[in-house]
Amino acid sequence: MDVMQIEFRQAERSRIHEVDFNNLPFGKHFSDHMFVADFVDGEWQNQQIVPFDNFTLSPALSSLHYGQSIFEGMKAYKNDVGEVLMVRPLDNLARMNESARRMCMATLPEEVFMGGLEALLRLDADWVPNTPGSSLYIRPYMFATDTFLGVAPSKTYRFCIFTCPVGTYYAKPPKVKVETEYIRAAEGGVGYAKCAGNYAGSMYPTMLAQQAGYDQLLWTDAKEHKYFEESGTMNVMFVIDGKIVTPALSDTTLKGITRDSILQIARHMGIGIEERQVSVDEIISGIESGRVTEAFGAGTAVVVSPFSVIGYKGKDYMLAEHPADKSIAMRIKTFLTDIRTGKSDDIFGWVYKV
Ligand SMILES: *Cc1c(COP(=O)(O)O)cnc(C)c1O
Repeated sequence: MDVMQIEFRQAERSRIHEVDFNNLPFGKHFSDHMFVADFVDGEWQNQQIVPFDNFTLSPALSSLHYGQSIFEGMKAYKNDVGEVLMVRPLDNLARMNESARRMCMATLPEEVFMGGLEALLRLDADWVPNTPGSSLYIRPYMFATDTFLGVAPSKTYRFCIFTCPVGTYYAKPPKVKVETEYIRAAEGGVGYAKCAGNYAGSMYPTMLAQQAGYDQLLWTDAKEHKYFEESGTMNVMFVIDGKIVTPALSDTTLKGITRDSILQIARHMGIGIEERQVSVDEIISGIESGRVTEAFGAGTAVVVSPFSVIGYKGKDYMLAEHPADKSIAMRIKTFLTDIRTGKSDDIFGWVYKV
């Protein structure tokens, strides 16, 4: 299958002028078109680019009942000559297929994923913002479409990609609370999959944290609540004695592409890296002694998001805000942003030009 097989139906008129590109809330404005493909009779077919619009779905749609539903998140930027750039899109495809295998869903061939993505971004290129801090958020996702009640893998699936121009995710550094009662994922479970249910399960404990004045949770391990896992839709990192320390990957954490990019950049900058168990005690006592100087989340939506406060057992531990050139997190964020926007050389071979 190649790009030629995509059927196009273009929007009669663009909605782009209805959007204020200087004020972009996350995930509220949708670009003109979407890519859709269906897995039927054991193969991907009906590849289409159509105006962003509602689907018609059966009340018995299996994904609504039993949750075979997975997604990805990526971003596109514009360089200064207006070309559309993405980084590492094939890593998103690989992860989507890992999620699909864990959820017993159909996997996606590169031609469908990349062909659809490129065709969509070419058609909606005007929607890719070029103002600093803004980008086009890309949401590829897949869900089961059998109309059948029964806990069994669906035989049919729909894959869709739509996009949203977005600004920055958190307006100011978030306050995070260490969660010591609820869990996000346990060993042997589905924590490493970007499956819809993981996020549904996180909402109630997150709401409780927000009622207590925090923005987001810092998850700990399911057995002892002793070691950090990740935060919201971000991996977490700490700076201890000038080194980046981050929880090692396992089947309970999402394998973040931003996390990996940050570690590669840190290595390139000569900053020390440790991927290992990181205990809550180590971080709390490290903040008190001054050895922990930074704590931040890393993910596509936020890129890098320094935490201002870590709340633990009813007490708030403050993290000082550093000037951008002194903060390791912000230095790495700038480095990564410069690669993504084509401002600096693509020394890691990550950039994919549409
Ligand atoms: C998507 C996600 C991340 C970050 O992954 P990126 O590839 O960097 O965007 C981290 N944790 C969770 C739970 C996520 O859903």
